[in-house]
Amino acid sequence: MNKPELLAPAGDFEKLKVAFHFGADAVYTGLKEFSLRANTKNFDNKEIEDAINYTHNLGKKIYLALNIYFTPDEADTFAEKLKFIETLKPDGIIISDLGALYLAKKYSPSIPIHISTQANTTNQYAVKMYKELGASRVILARELSLSQIELISNEVPDIELETFIHGAMCISYSGRCLISSYMTKDGLGKRLKEEAEEIRSANKGDCSHSCRWEYILKEKTRAEQNYTIEEDDKGTYILSSKDMCMIDNIGDLVKSGIKSFKIEGRMKSILYISSIVRAYRQAIDNYFDKNIPYNRQTIEDELNIVSHREFSTGFFYYSPMKDANITVTPAYKREKRLAAMVEDVKNDRAVLKIYNTINPTSQIEYVGKNMLTIKVGKISLYDKDGNVVEKANHSQYIEADIFTTDGEKINYQQFDILRMESDF
Ligand code: SF4
Repeated sequence: MNKPELLAPAGDFEKLKVAFHFGADAVYTGLKEFSLRANTKNFDNKEIEDAINYTHNLGKKIYLALNIYFTPDEADTFAEKLKFIETLKPDGIIISDLGALYLAKKYSPSIPIHISTQANTTNQYAVKMYKELGASRVILARELSLSQIELISNEVPDIELETFIHGAMCISYSGRCLISSYMTKDGLGKRLKEEAEEIRSANKGDCSHSCRWEYILKEKTRAEQNYTIEEDDKGTYILSSKDMCMIDNIGDLVKSGIKSFKIEGRMKSILYISSIVRAYRQAIDNYFDKNIPYNRQTIEDELNIVSHREFSTGFFYYSPMKDANITVTPAYKREKRLAAMVEDVKNDRAVLKIYNTINPTSQIEYVGKNMLTIKVGKISLYDKDGNVVEKANHSQYIEADIFTTDGEKINYQQFDILRMESDF
């Protein structure tokens, strides 16, 4: 049985480096245009070239998302982008639209084609058809169960299957959703006046997550009166889906024939990427080699340090018709925040890029790959001239000596991170 690929999101170059550092085999990312994440930094032409070279030098893979449904007026620009991508040689392009597939075969003929989950592929014949049309991989709809995936895998064995295994899910069918467009349309369900600028379309990568909003009830003739809808003392979030977490089900995913395990979240933070990637790295490696240590509680704690809704196993074990997978509590759990990242190591000192203010008394954890987590006993901060500083603020680059609680200096590695308790 081959080890599946661990595929992580990379909203920008920094996140890409962090994902690889913590154990991803491959990343998926987007260009400034045509990828379904309008609000991430994404990559411009020069950055994507650098990112592809960086990835290939590590012997890893990078896939570019071009998964919007474009309109006739966007076709020429889309084709130009594909010609450019052909010269870059990424390991795959992720597309949803049949028109995009047509243009990709014409203008990026050497780049493997992956069919996006946005295409809602739910059966073996759709997979066969995509294969005949030239696709090398299909990212299946999140609504399929493991037994359905196994059936597809048995019937179409010569194509790679990918599924999401962790992260946020949509209440609608894998993102094919108009709730956000409707709720941000002028004169309709605007939440706030200042949001009235433009329609935010999920299908153009600009979802306002209207399904997560807190709704109230109004009676037609009493418009001034708001009636609270209460499932419990926290109100109700009738459209908000639970997050997916398959950390305890690696074996079932492998047995069903899934070749690539995808973590959701191109808009997620460095903290999220480091924690989720290293947790799944450990779980997958341990599944294939029992000599790799695995502590279930440590892994659970790791998954819980970043914001998330209640976890579930999505629809892998039962149909959406049985249970719509709705959250019963709206609260994001969030227990840690990113303090800094090791940008470099110079003269035995860590050069830190600061994300949240730290000082020598901050309670900090040092985090590296292979589930390395060290409670920091002492941290001394220096400016670039070697002068001691008492505080380091967001966006500063600061040099540091970092020690364990036993007084031993930590062995820093580039892209290790420092994290601290969250105040909220
Ligand atoms: S509004 Fe909710 S269900 Fe619709 S695309 Fe956005 S996140 Fe998904």
